[in-house]
Amino acid sequence: MGVGTVYLVGAGPGDSKLITVRGFEYLRTADVVLYDRLVNPLLLDEAKPKAELIYCGKLPDRHHLRQEAIQEVMIEKAKEGLHVIRLKGGDPGVFGRVGEEAAALAEAEVPYEIIPGITAGIAAPAYAGVPVTHREHASSFAIVTGHAQTGEPSPNWEGLATSIDTIAFYMGVKNLSFIAENLIKHGKSKDTPIMLVEWATTSRQRTVEGTLENITEVVERENIKNPALTLVGDVVGLRKSLHWFEKKKLTDQTILVGQTNSKKSSIAAKLRENGAEAFEFPSFRETPESESFPENLKSFSKIVFLASESVTPFFKEIKRRRIDVRSLPSEITATTKRGAVYLEEHGIFSEIDSFIQEEEGVLYIGKEDQIAPLSEDGWISHRAVTNEKSNITLVRLHQDKRLTTVVFPCAEAVETVTREVEEAGISFKEWKEDKLFICYGPKSRMKAEETGYENCIELEQPDVDHLIASLAATQITYS
Ligand code: SAH
Repeated sequence: MGVGTVYLVGAGPGDSKLITVRGFEYLRTADVVLYDRLVNPLLLDEAKPKAELIYCGKLPDRHHLRQEAIQEVMIEKAKEGLHVIRLKGGDPGVFGRVGEEAAALAEAEVPYEIIPGITAGIAAPAYAGVPVTHREHASSFAIVTGHAQTGEPSPNWEGLATSIDTIAFYMGVKNLSFIAENLIKHGKSKDTPIMLVEWATTSRQRTVEGTLENITEVVERENIKNPALTLVGDVVGLRKSLHWFEKKKLTDQTILVGQTNSKKSSIAAKLRENGAEAFEFPSFRETPESESFPENLKSFSKIVFLASESVTPFFKEIKRRRIDVRSLPSEITATTKRGAVYLEEHGIFSEIDSFIQEEEGVLYIGKEDQIAPLSEDGWISHRAVTNEKSNITLVRLHQDKRLTTVVFPCAEAVETVTREVEEAGISFKEWKEDKLFICYGPKSRMKAEETGYENCIELEQPDVDHLIASLAATQITYS
């Protein structure tokens, strides 16, 4: 067995779409994904269902996996022949320790690639409407750490203050007053504009602005916390006229769209078009069931397909069992238009049976809960099983307080979402606390209220345009 490759990939600053195409391709095919705290959890949902996800995010005061341990895991997995992706926030080479990781891989003779990403020092200003260089305002730009292993950071203050026009400080919130004082002391004007962008490029983005003299006060008042990017320089003054992201319709929202089956949601796609981040949850996988297939097909006078997804598995199964189509009952129908369309693909032009009731001699085929009220022994052609990987994404989105809104398109979605939330280990009380819940219609609202959700919003009309209008009208605040 060969040695797998390790891809050291920049995941971008926050918005899940700001990863490179190459990085995204590697993510979708990797066997093992090691990820940091700042990586957008929505990206994890793109990994293969069977991929192993390993969290190695380090919170400022806590170490989940030490650096050496991370390196060991990468090497071990690659030597098992697996493809490993190490996803890092922003760019892996900017305060991302990619140098140490690449050195360890080189020493272990494990092949690797380094895929750059968009670093926060450039992305955060961009999403605040500020270019880091500008023909009239800035011709140099520096990236500086505002954090030091021990004590305060000690860059060349004089050099920074006198010869760099725009400075991005990473990890600098704690030491902000120290940074501002030193820049002034070494020659920057106390009126130099400065801004902090918190959770840049995500639905939680907030920007505050001031001068070197008063910024500490502003940041304390607004309670700005990590992750935040600090940008110093005259270009900051452009924000007022150029800011765009914080103005857009739905960019301040990360929306969970409740799912009940494995179909991609058209609601989620529409929300994304309008600038929101959308997470389809829970994610389902259909697994075919051949076991309960009836042995005595001939004894039925009619077959009814209750689920369109059952049509293909049925014909696969009869082929596998070498049953001739001519031996099937002459009456075959579907209950949905889509089901009828699938039947046509197999040469059967059926009626759509929209009012079905319990009937003797009928073989019902569909999902378990569709068959149960009609017959004791229909054929359950497939089961939708939830994909556990999505729970990891859910927990991370919840813990980072990124999820702002939950949409229940139907009553069943209230059940599936609530069940999986609990399955993922999140307490219901905490879950319903800080989010907005939107129900498509009266049925889903009733179900939600029965379940314990309070203050749900019901759409005037159950369609995506009303959903978007309702979302755009809501003011999102973060705790
Ligand atoms: N490799 C990363 C930086 C890692 S250091 C990159 O290239 O962006 C972590 C620091 O990056 C944070 O303390 C913060 O200052 C900055 N940062 C990362 N993501 C950010 C975001 N979405 N918003 C604001 N700052 C961010």
